[in-house]
Amino acid sequence: MPELKVRSWGAEIYGIPHSEGFCCENGNCEGWSALGASDEVVKQVVGFSLSTNPSAVIYECPKCFERFWVHSSSESTIKFLIKFCPNWPKKKRNKSVKNTVST
Ligand SMILES: [Zn+2]
Repeated sequence: MPELKVRSWGAEIYGIPHSEGFCCENGNCEGWSALGASDEVVKQVVGFSLSTNPSAVIYECPKCFERFWVHSSSESTIKFLIKFCPNWPKKKRNKSVKNTVST
């Protein structure tokens, strides 16, 4: 399995509560859930941290703006976030590499 190269970015995980259930920890806002892979969910990702094992994805609840984090245990999840999360820092692509692909 090729190593997935990711780095920490965005919000600091320290002081942010861990959510076991992928839900906002604020009991007053009906537990907004980060489960599922909709556009509404991925745009709430405000950070990623390698300081936990497995790594952590940090979300900001769209209702109360409290932050919480969940473990991102699978590589496919992380790949998905890299691709679709609008906040995820994008790598600059080298255009010359693209042109070397032959058929
Ligand atoms: Zn909330």
